Amino acid sequence: MPLNRVICYAAITVFLSLIHFSSSAHEDETKRDTVSAMVMYGEAMLLDGIEEMNKEEIALYKDSLIHLTNPPLSVIEQIEIYEQIPSMTFEEVFHLIDSLFEMESIPYPLINQINLYVATHEPIEEEEIDTSQYPADFYYQSWNTLIPNPYAVRNLIQNDSTLELKLQGGKRLQEFQMPIEGVLTSGFGWRDGRNHNGIDIDLEVWDTVRTSFPGMVRVARYYGGYGRVVVVRHWNGLETLYAHLHRIKVKPGDIVNAGDLVGLGGSSGHSTGSHLHWEIRFKGVPINPAHFIDLQEGELQKDVLVLKRTRYGYAAFPEGVVFHEVKRGEFLYKIASEYGTTVNKLCELNGIRRNSILVVGQKIRVI
Ligand SMILES: [Zn+2]
Repeated sequence: MPLNRVICYAAITVFLSLIHFSSSAHEDETKRDTVSAMVMYGEAMLLDGIEEMNKEEIALYKDSLIHLTNPPLSVIEQIEIYEQIPSMTFEEVFHLIDSLFEMESIPYPLINQINLYVATHEPIEEEEIDTSQYPADFYYQSWNTLIPNPYAVRNLIQNDSTLELKLQGGKRLQEFQMPIEGVLTSGFGWRDGRNHNGIDIDLEVWDTVRTSFPGMVRVARYYGGYGRVVVVRHWNGLETLYAHLHRIKVKPGDIVNAGDLVGLGGSSGHSTGSHLHWEIRFKGVPINPAHFIDLQEGELQKDVLVLKRTRYGYAAFPEGVVFHEVKRGEFLYKIASEYGTTVNKLCELNGIRRNSILVVGQKIRVI
């Protein structure tokens, strides 16, 4: 191991570590107790000397790797992640590293490379990044340009509350647009034993894919099974994701209007045949587009989307939906007749069975 690398490791260990250091005899104890961050994981690095390469050299190196793939996170993808480190704050870097540790196959060489970068460079000051410029920052308070779904917390709506998002018609909210006109080939929900978090729309390679609402591009890159993927954060609070693209036509930070080109359709990533995999999420939780969009007509059913917390996340409904709070002694048939509906309809709306036990205070959808 070259001496300078040994020094770097030492520097990192002192500088940042996920574990708290125990005190050593010579140093000031109060300082040491507050040091926290990262350590190196073995000696494997993404690419020796990458920290001294400029953008063009890295791009050339990436080109030379274009035919190498090593799923689930190929070397090219790892280099692309590394390239974005200089424009991230330390806090963002730490979040990124956390998310890398959540991967099925943890990319230790990349993590080491990032640690090395962080230990040898000045951080960007947090103040330089003004998150108020980002759409729907009120809900998110973060802006990750690398990972399509970086949101770990899934219990987004406190307690039993309901959240309303105004989807269109406001100052910054223009008309909704379908990303592409085409045949729906796969719906939302369980498919082949796993969850399908979006819908699939048939297209030809090179077809124009458009953003559905106005907003700002958050992610535009190659990412695992999504292939070339674009994620747009919208002013209305939703995020939409466009996957398997053949070409990406936007970059993070681009402001887009509803109907603007984000890329050309294709079948990159895990995809059989060219199609658009389209997701709509709120704070990472996938929403079934069919719950509030008339997919045949390509129109929103209502201007306002109601999100209600459920046991597994939340459910989305167009405005106008009515909930009933279960009171002592009530049962499905009683509630159904009160609202002029049927037990079957209530079961269908709420995903419950006729003999499900109702809990006092539980809110069930009745219309
Ligand atoms: Zn899909």
